[in-house]
Amino acid sequence: MTQILLNPGPVTLSKRVRTAMLRPDICHRESEFAELQEGLRRKLLNVYELPPDGWAAVLMTGSGTAAVEAMITSCVPYDGRLLIVENGAYGERMSRIASAYGISYERLSGSWEAGFNLEGIRKSLLANSDFTHVAAVHHETTTGRLNDINALGDICRQVGVRLLVDGVSSFGAETLEFEDWQIDACAATANKCLHGVPGTAFVIARRAALLEVPPPSRSVYLDLHNYLVQQDEKGTPFTQSIQTFYALDEALDEFFEAGGWQARQRLFTSRLASIRQTLIKLGVEPLLHENECSCVLHAFALPEWQTYTELHRMMKESGYVIYAGQGTLAERIFRISAMGDITTATLKAICAALTDALHEAP
Ligand SMILES: *Cc1c(COP(=O)(O)O)cnc(C)c1O
Repeated sequence: MTQILLNPGPVTLSKRVRTAMLRPDICHRESEFAELQEGLRRKLLNVYELPPDGWAAVLMTGSGTAAVEAMITSCVPYDGRLLIVENGAYGERMSRIASAYGISYERLSGSWEAGFNLEGIRKSLLANSDFTHVAAVHHETTTGRLNDINALGDICRQVGVRLLVDGVSSFGAETLEFEDWQIDACAATANKCLHGVPGTAFVIARRAALLEVPPPSRSVYLDLHNYLVQQDEKGTPFTQSIQTFYALDEALDEFFEAGGWQARQRLFTSRLASIRQTLIKLGVEPLLHENECSCVLHAFALPEWQTYTELHRMMKESGYVIYAGQGTLAERIFRISAMGDITTATLKAICAALTDALHEAP
């Protein structure tokens, strides 16, 4: 049975994207590959209309975490210091990365259920003038919260530090003002809001951020500077996952034809509005207020009359894969993402299946 994925990536593919993987076999040292890669890099910059003289899309084979790890290890210089703002599992993952590579960092960890403590961030940055970079997650998929990168960017500008963003679950569907928000680099992936296949990840970076400072080389495989230099020369340092490049290429064409990120934002917003309304009617409480949520995923409190295991089983039996909470939230919430190729009829069926699985027994 075909399953509809309501987990935050990978997503249900369109037939068109799936079929694109059947394009001809090519070698990554040949001109066909160079053309494919050039096209992808141009299209990825076009998602947020970034000019190619100031910005670059750096492609790599890996999951979203590879892009985040490449960004952190390639952008923070050896004599730099990083402030990591955490309010969920993905913020915490960035601290694990910094720690694994021996990068000088400090973590500012807040509650998973609260937004950024902007005053605290400002104070930390002012208290220690060694900080050169701040890293934060845009859409914290742990709870569905859309973090205020705009306000964080203002602070970074005032204090004079650079901003690195994990945009893995927001790129392609949320507002991202790269220039205005002072973003130096943003990590993302093919298989979330862009509706591609898992296997290709990328970092959108200011060229100056990678080229104007002596690049640290903490990693052989995840060295963004090396990828950028070689990709600018139409090459690639390593074998790339060509079939997932094909799929991303097709997914981006589909994306632009449908109206770009604004259209995707409207689509996801309306899907989640239907799901949220259905659940509220059943007495299921959303974890966060609507204004705090991304358009990509919402989290809901498990009602006392249903367990996650049973809810997941019932939904899966109907053909829908929902997602559990992480960490201490695992016992308390479930998550539903709006990404992927889902028809209006399927959305109705999802709401009906949720009603079946979550109505309170009389
Ligand atoms: C999905 C996701 C990632 C990357 O996860 P992978 O499993 O490596 O693809 C990173 N950050 C956020 C916010 C995510 O949602």
